[in-house]
Amino acid sequence: MGEIPAPTTVRDAFAAYAQRVSRALIAVEALLVDEHVPRRPEWECQACDTGTPWPCAPAQVRLLEAYRRDLAGLSDYVSTLYHAALEDLRTDSWRELRDRFVGWIP
Ligand SMILES: [Zn+2]
Repeated sequence: MGEIPAPTTVRDAFAAYAQRVSRALIAVEALLVDEHVPRRPEWECQACDTGTPWPCAPAQVRLLEAYRRDLAGLSDYVSTLYHAALEDLRTDSWRELRDRFVGWIP
């Protein structure tokens, strides 16, 4: 994985953002070892009971373990997923969704 160059146009910015999101989505499956990964576009956990919002408690534990020395990196990473979820879910309750995605990080 190479560095994504700083975008100079709006189109480049969107392309860089889309690339960032797709990398984050690929990484989440590796980080969670294919368990407790989000089902899109619902953003529910694939392993927990139907309708369990992602990130579920086991996903939070695994993400914290993976990023225990880099909580800022975890926050940045989960924020990217939050923005992807915001687009998928098309919800007006963005604060609630933000708390769900980022609020559990110590
Ligand atoms: Zn789960």
